[in-house]
Amino acid sequence: MNEDFELIKHSGAILCKHVAEGSPIQIAKKDEPVCDVDSGWQFLCGCDMEDDSEAQIWKLGEVINLEPSLLPHILSDEDSYLVKDTNSKKWIKMPSRPTSVPIADNDELEAQTEIIKSAP
Ligand SMILES: [Zn+2]
Repeated sequence: MNEDFELIKHSGAILCKHVAEGSPIQIAKKDEPVCDVDSGWQFLCGCDMEDDSEAQIWKLGEVINLEPSLLPHILSDEDSYLVKDTNSKKWIKMPSRPTSVPIADNDELEAQTEIIKSAP
């Protein structure tokens, strides 16, 4: 665990209701933090039933306890968009946040993931 993480582990992160209730995190995305105590991170299950009003805010450190595999990525730049590969269980960094693609659209995300994996 590095010092930078120590500095941000008390920052807030948004979890979708499902992740907060135990579903695995499938999508991790980082936006520009909106305030000092915001990490900018959102952790989502990737389903198409997200309701912003039911999202929860956790400390980033609590999220890492839940999903330690995110730790190497936690200092990623803003606009990072990571998707967990269902086979390898590794986090795959998307080239840029696919703003035109609804988060809910798993098929699109999988298609993009395939493109990245097949890239030379
Ligand atoms: Zn969800």
